[in-house]
Amino acid sequence: MTISRLLIANRGEIALRIHRAAHEMGIETVAVHSTADTDAMHVRLADHAICIGPPAAKDSYLNQAAIISAAEISGADAIHPGYGFLSENAQFAEIVEAHDIAWIGPKPEHIRTMGDKVAAKKTAGALGLPLVPGSDGAVYTTEEAARVAEEIGYPVLVKAASGGGGRGMKVIPSRDQLETLVSQAKSEAKAAFGDDTVYIEKYLGNPRHIEFQVFGDGNGNAIHLGERDCSLQRRHQKVLEEAPSPVLGQEDRERMGGIVAKAMAEMGYRGAGTIEFLWENGEFYFIEMNTRLQVEHPVTEAITGVDLVREQIRVADGKPLSIKQDEIEFKGHAIECRINAEDPFNFAPSPGKITTYHAPGGMHVRVDSGLYAGYSIPPYYDSMIAKLIVYGRTREGCIMRLKRALDEMVVEGVKTSIPLHCALLEEPDILNGDYSIKWLEEWLEKRG
Ligand code: ADP
Repeated sequence: MTISRLLIANRGEIALRIHRAAHEMGIETVAVHSTADTDAMHVRLADHAICIGPPAAKDSYLNQAAIISAAEISGADAIHPGYGFLSENAQFAEIVEAHDIAWIGPKPEHIRTMGDKVAAKKTAGALGLPLVPGSDGAVYTTEEAARVAEEIGYPVLVKAASGGGGRGMKVIPSRDQLETLVSQAKSEAKAAFGDDTVYIEKYLGNPRHIEFQVFGDGNGNAIHLGERDCSLQRRHQKVLEEAPSPVLGQEDRERMGGIVAKAMAEMGYRGAGTIEFLWENGEFYFIEMNTRLQVEHPVTEAITGVDLVREQIRVADGKPLSIKQDEIEFKGHAIECRINAEDPFNFAPSPGKITTYHAPGGMHVRVDSGLYAGYSIPPYYDSMIAKLIVYGRTREGCIMRLKRALDEMVVEGVKTSIPLHCALLEEPDILNGDYSIKWLEEWLEKRG
């Protein structure tokens, strides 16, 4: 089949990102949008636009029937789900395929397996990935949880099998708090995901978050595109990402990359995926796999020169991978800053009208954003309004350029996280690459 009209089932910067890749391939785009996004940039730029419902995501961007109807009406032959929303919904992927529309994503069965973290851990273990010590599958009773916790030693973490975004996750410091925290995690998971299945993991004290980008053709060929270091987090949400990781050498990269690529080849994985690890004292521990394009994918694009969205579209169209493992070269350094419409230090959301907007430019500066002066950021969705991605031949050069680009960037009318990023880039630990997943919260606490 040949994809000639692609429906983008998403909004914001990622909708624009997908539109751009499609147009560069000569593919027409169909934007779908809620009534709150009529004036969004991706809607303006797309060849066709269809309103699929009111602002609430459940009635629009998560409205499967409306999206399928929009694809049918517009004659779209492929759907790209972006990230979030329906991107990791296996049932939606099946429905799309049942309509003879190409699903630009992994095979539904792989989305399903990896979306259940208990099943994902089992699969990862069977494929030879190193795991965080913990329960062998779900735990159903307090006694079971207590036995596992005793075995691996406190503190432990209780996590939701269907979890995401750090929800349904609690640190259990000792036996006396186990019962309360497990039941809290269960009710949180039930409320957020409709599934109260939980499991137990060793709580790692001070790890880094290092994830590998993988890519498969669905026919048993797979490659890795190196790692991203996403240790700078607040409440399990990534704030700034970089590639390569300041702590990995080429040998580590090749060894772990080789393991994950082989695992994906064995699975017959199709499309883009991310295998997330915690890294502590030189050891990797698998935590989960995301079966979609990630927010932070541009840092990988910057150091490899591979357009991941183009590659996704090609593979969904039945084409082979455009690049072989031994052709991938990791060059230079890239950092992405997530820019949110929120108070830079207390993180209160700040939706509203953009009065002035000036994007930074110059060599190796990329801005993925649908912002423009006069645009009103709706209050209904994610607060991320832009991603600034900067490349440099060295990490030091990248940081200098990033500071320069942040200085140039002007967003007025709402508060943004630009001042947070500027402050972070003055910190010796950040400049030295010496930070773990705890660093940012501790720093914010110290700042008061
Ligand atoms: P989610 O899907 O909810 O984002 P993850 O399993 O990806 O959950 O974990 C999110 C973040 O939580 C990780 O990046 C890390 O900061 C922290 N985390 C997860 N598992 C552990 C663990 N075993 N020990 C310490 N921190 C953890």
